[in-house]
Amino acid sequence: MKVASLEPGEIDRIECEVGEIMAAVPPRVWDGESLPVPIDSIAREVYGLKVREVSHDQMREIVGDQATEGTMSGLLLTGIGEIWVNDWEARQPEWGSQRKRFTIGHELGHFAMHQSGPPAIYCRASDSSESAEDAPTPHPVPELEANTFSAAFLMPASLVRPEIGPEGVDGDQLKTLMLRFDSSAKAMRRRVETLRLIA
Ligand SMILES: [Zn+2]
Repeated sequence: MKVASLEPGEIDRIECEVGEIMAAVPPRVWDGESLPVPIDSIAREVYGLKVREVSHDQMREIVGDQATEGTMSGLLLTGIGEIWVNDWEARQPEWGSQRKRFTIGHELGHFAMHQSGPPAIYCRASDSSESAEDAPTPHPVPELEANTFSAAFLMPASLVRPEIGPEGVDGDQLKTLMLRFDSSAKAMRRRVETLRLIA
């Protein structure tokens, strides 16, 4: 099923799930307030998943015919316990770190919410990036769920909410938040909107 956005109740459910996961992260891995959220360490220490930067061609080789069109940002390989991120994207000086982090969060979302049956591969196409969250284009529900999970993980409600005024946030505040959370402007703006929606 493809939809343009998730229902608020569904977002709430994911929010709760992420909140529980974050609360269970051992303090030696994350103290619950330092930013940006150390998603690499959490993937490794909490989920036992190794994050690797690999070329797009390597991803294509694994995914083969089930590949979606366009570039792939990431893959979750549950069988070997690895998250692969697109090395070219990760190296971009302006947005590489933000993209890589969101991709890891997206794959962790699949790991936490969508695993069933035998080891599987979950990919993240570039067009299901954080920016697609607010696009009117329909997406498969699991992709939207994984994006919602990633946003909640990287921009925890408990840390973002105190920064939001009655009118939301202005351009300067948004910029400050982006830097603190190491998130893209689109993802950060979307996160603020979501938190106002489910307040
Ligand atoms: Zn995905």
